[in-house]
Amino acid sequence: MTSRAFRIVGNLKMHLPRGILQEYGEAVDQRSLSLMVPHPYLSEAKKLCENTGITIGAQDVSAYQEGAHTGEVSANMLQDLGVTEVLVGHSETRHRGEDVTLQLDSCRQSGLSVIYCIGEDSVSYENGETFEYLSTQLEAVKSLEGVSIAYEPRWSIGTGKTPSFKEIENVVVWIRAWLETHFPGNLDKTSVLYGGSINQNNCFEIYQNTSLDGFLVGGVSLKPAVMMEVIDLCKLYS
Ligand code: PEP
Repeated sequence: MTSRAFRIVGNLKMHLPRGILQEYGEAVDQRSLSLMVPHPYLSEAKKLCENTGITIGAQDVSAYQEGAHTGEVSANMLQDLGVTEVLVGHSETRHRGEDVTLQLDSCRQSGLSVIYCIGEDSVSYENGETFEYLSTQLEAVKSLEGVSIAYEPRWSIGTGKTPSFKEIENVVVWIRAWLETHFPGNLDKTSVLYGGSINQNNCFEIYQNTSLDGFLVGGVSLKPAVMMEVIDLCKLYS
């Protein structure tokens, strides 16, 4: 039986979060959980979850700190709201074509922690080119300070399909080896999460058979009662 610190992070995507957050606030108690909410709700979410074990984070951040970037939200703005963590590079934001290195840099300057999402597309997966794909994405990381990595295969997000736990573990071991090569002696500064169609039926098998440090959960995080099952199954043995 494995026993370790294990994080669960929910991504509420672009859904109205008020009702969902209220439900979480009533259910979570001291079970620690992070929820990434849409920008307009960050302040309210922080208030709603004030006395719970829930930490509120943001889903995206601009590469720039200020200037003529209409509609964007900078790391400084998030920091000003008291937000401490943000997703960078989520596959559902990558259409914006942001420079990930600049985003990571901006977050570091503002003291924000980052969950940097990487993951191959289905063609690369089918062609056995996962590691090449991930290497290119990891090249954007210039420092591990405050940066966690979430392995999120694009073909798995919101599809109900997941890699096998063996495939996930191979990638986790490979990511740690890559990070150790590029940032020797700094592995304890980071953590490696998995995201992609995690639910109450598959979470425990993946938890138990991998060395992951946590899960990033999308669709299921919209249903607090089901998310609680995921948390309980994983926390039970942490
Ligand atoms: C996500 O949004 O990061 C995610 C992993 O989504 P889902 O769990 O729905 O696949």
